Amino acid sequence: MSSDVLMLIHDGLVPSVSGEWLDVVNPATEQVEARVPHAGADDVNRAVASAREAADRGPWRRLTPAERGRLLFRLAELVEKHSESLALLDTQDMGKPYAHSRQHDVPGVVDLLRFYAGFCDKGRGSEIPLGPDKHVYVRREPVGVVAGILPWNFPLSAAAQKLAPAVACGNTVVLKPAEQSPRSTLRLAELCMEAGFPAGVVNVLTGLGETTGSLLVAHPAIDKISFTGSTAVGRLVMKAAAEHIHKVTLELGGKTANIVFPDAPVESAVSYALLTSCYNSGQVCTSGSRLLLHRSLHDEFMEKLVRSMNELKVGDPMQPDTRLGPLVSHEQWQRVQSYVEWGKQRYTPTICGYRSEPLDRGFFVNPTVFDHVDAGCRIAQEEIFGPVLSVIDFTDEQEALRIANETRYGLATSIWTADLRRAHRMAAAADSGIVWINCNNYWNTAIPYEGHRASGIGADMGLEAVESYTRLKSVIVNLDDTPNAWATNN
Ligand code: NAD
Repeated sequence: MSSDVLMLIHDGLVPSVSGEWLDVVNPATEQVEARVPHAGADDVNRAVASAREAADRGPWRRLTPAERGRLLFRLAELVEKHSESLALLDTQDMGKPYAHSRQHDVPGVVDLLRFYAGFCDKGRGSEIPLGPDKHVYVRREPVGVVAGILPWNFPLSAAAQKLAPAVACGNTVVLKPAEQSPRSTLRLAELCMEAGFPAGVVNVLTGLGETTGSLLVAHPAIDKISFTGSTAVGRLVMKAAAEHIHKVTLELGGKTANIVFPDAPVESAVSYALLTSCYNSGQVCTSGSRLLLHRSLHDEFMEKLVRSMNELKVGDPMQPDTRLGPLVSHEQWQRVQSYVEWGKQRYTPTICGYRSEPLDRGFFVNPTVFDHVDAGCRIAQEEIFGPVLSVIDFTDEQEALRIANETRYGLATSIWTADLRRAHRMAAAADSGIVWINCNNYWNTAIPYEGHRASGIGADMGLEAVESYTRLKSVIVNLDDTPNAWATNN
């Protein structure tokens, strides 16, 4: 039976002013799990006004950084306490295996909240020494109201990634989770209230991207947009930001090359090739959906990879042995199928994985491999966002590098080799914001990431995220009372 979940505006849980609702569909069962409000212009105005008031005049402004840190530490404790229910919400809303959301996503969020909690009282401005008659210092101040637009692939993690650095720096936030997966963000906001965040500091609006999302990013009273999602929508967000010259951070799509040289540790490389192409059913921005294999190890590697891929269970995300749950929605399933169909016209697919029971409902896709793919073709160039792997052969380092860099994206690259010099040569030449050597999809809050080219603008995570949630103010103090030389003709 579905239930209604309310949005958080100011200090209360509310429906939309219009009374409109949106269904949240469980992609494993195709059942409606819940309804959330569809926020319209009135709701967006109220949420932004509340965040504005809290940023400009509320008690939030008067809290010391250490007090802000204590609130984030308390929030981390509450998330830890409610790990199971938060993990379940993400599984029910977007289909990721419960074991993964419980064991990886939620603990990762707890660590992230603690990382930025610890940062709160460690922020610094700077002084510029310019001689005895001037005192010049640079303040690093909060930007104000941050609009955070979230994707559906890691719902709780994405919400925490926007919220934590923003509030650590003293900002207030209005979050808009993806329409497919809003409930863990709403629950996180409730936990913020329980932790004691003042009214208006954290607001969550639920709704569609083209309505609620576009109203929020076009709102004149926000100061910054932090967007994670597709490159196509990122472009629209940037246009909206241009109207009022809002600051903008964009974390967008990718087409990661996972490059394996003949001297790579093969067993390890095979296991990571499996991880990077199939984890979260391939719905990861840094998914290594292009596997670049040196010709000399191609056959051995592919045999091992396909064998391992066949051991992945596709099915009910609540079962502990399930490795691939469904894709997030029927729309995403159709999109991935259209790429698979396109690939089938040109290459012979290997359909991997197994299903232990018939899946007559749900948006499931088995891992699918296309081998000897042309590096310039559609499935090797476009972000599919499903467990579909294109395998591309190469002969030498130069060719591997050229293929790796010849997409419009620049999010991540993964390099497998025992040759230290080659590893660092490749790392320097790869045109992406992340380079993994002999691993991939390793994340830690301390590591910043920034997409190159069509993968984004500005850094998320790490202490570097702090720069994008603050703005500079230079203060120049004259310590000398001498009249100005130009004005007095001296
Ligand atoms: P999406 O772009 O469709 O939607 C992202 C968010 O934008 C959603 O909340 C949506 O409602 C909202 N939105 C849609 N239209 C909007 C508009 N006109 N104005 C304002 N907001 C709007 O992306 P998605 O399908 O939710 O997520 C998948 C994409 O996200 C993939 O491309 C993936 O690579 C990318 N992603 C990138 C990163 C990263 O860090 N680089 C991380 C996760 C996901």
